[in-house]
Amino acid sequence: MRIMPGAMLGVLGGGQLGRMFVHAAQQMGYRVTVLDPAIDSPAGQVADDFVCAEFADHTALEKLGNQCAAITTEFENIPAESLQKLAESCIVKPDVYSVAIAQNRVLEKQFLLDHGFSVGPFSVIVQQQDLIALDVAQFLPGILKISQFGYDGKGQIPVANTDELIVAYDQLNQAVCVLEKFMPIKKELSVVVARGSDGELQTFPVSENQHVNGILDISIVPARVTMELAQKTQDIACQVVRKLNYQGVLCVEFFVLQDDTLLINEIAPRPHNSGHYSINACVTSQFEQQVRTLCALPLGATTQHSVAVMVNLLGDLWHNGKPDWHRVLQHPSAKLHLYGKNAARIGRKMGHYTVLSTNIDNALREAIRIKKQLE
Ligand code: ADP
Ligand code: MG
Repeated sequence: MRIMPGAMLGVLGGGQLGRMFVHAAQQMGYRVTVLDPAIDSPAGQVADDFVCAEFADHTALEKLGNQCAAITTEFENIPAESLQKLAESCIVKPDVYSVAIAQNRVLEKQFLLDHGFSVGPFSVIVQQQDLIALDVAQFLPGILKISQFGYDGKGQIPVANTDELIVAYDQLNQAVCVLEKFMPIKKELSVVVARGSDGELQTFPVSENQHVNGILDISIVPARVTMELAQKTQDIACQVVRKLNYQGVLCVEFFVLQDDTLLINEIAPRPHNSGHYSINACVTSQFEQQVRTLCALPLGATTQHSVAVMVNLLGDLWHNGKPDWHRVLQHPSAKLHLYGKNAARIGRKMGHYTVLSTNIDNALREAIRIKKQLE
């Protein structure tokens, strides 16, 4: 059902992704209600209405369902039952099936393997004995990842040998985990793709992502890879959303190995940090596309009009108080985005900036120059 401007939309989650969704929706004339447990959240601050409640609070979900024409989510750790409940009386995109898969590393890897996608070698750890099974050694050195509720490198511990693995498993409270072999990655890429209610597909240009301590640091777009490799990642992203019968915006993260083999690292059932460049560099942003898919509107063009380098601003930069924003603002083609978070903590995403240019080397040079000045 097509939902036209003026209607109230809902978002589960009050983080920066929700905030940027609210901005996109309001620009198009929609109103937005945000539900989040935190009283002061980035999305709650800018929403038309705010419900402060836990994601499993039935009364709050009912209120949201009653006042919204359609509801989306901005992070994958919403309890599947909450989405299920909302879906009984309201349009909910993405659907509970896709979110349930993407929020659980075990189900996610199983889904990818079942549908013929390539992933790196891994082993599922459900109990202590699994750690000393004969075949575990082949996944070492590796990274032990908690199967649910991890983000930005949290819930992940690198392990070199079995002894470290046993300690790491205890540190993760013996929760269900995935042990991934540490991959020799040449590059990391990601593709944001949108699929509309009639199956219409639009991929965004491919991002080349650099991480520091498991957290995205810089995205370079378009990625500095061959057209052929870029096309391959976009094709795979399209296949993933088709196989999920997905409606909404989704991101596929890839590892590129030395010989250009592509592995899927993970999928995110929502707009993605590596797609923030689209706000300033594309005809349609990933957040507008989320509004369009939610409201069953035609999708927007994802054409990129400027090359872009996006740099994340983590709480680490606040070590001497607020960074000097003039460093970013004085650059005529740098776009500053701050998320309205009051407490700056190490590793916390506080904002980002995107440097636009006609030349990727220039954009990268300028983006890094600004970053150095902020540090
Ligand atoms: P998150 O959910 O926090 O994004 P990821 O699984 O994507 O977690 O891991 C974050 C980053 O850690 C990846 O983007 C990559 O840089 C690094 N990483 C994760 N798994 C592996 C692996 N198996 N081999 C090498 N690097 C990895
Ligand atoms: Mg990731």
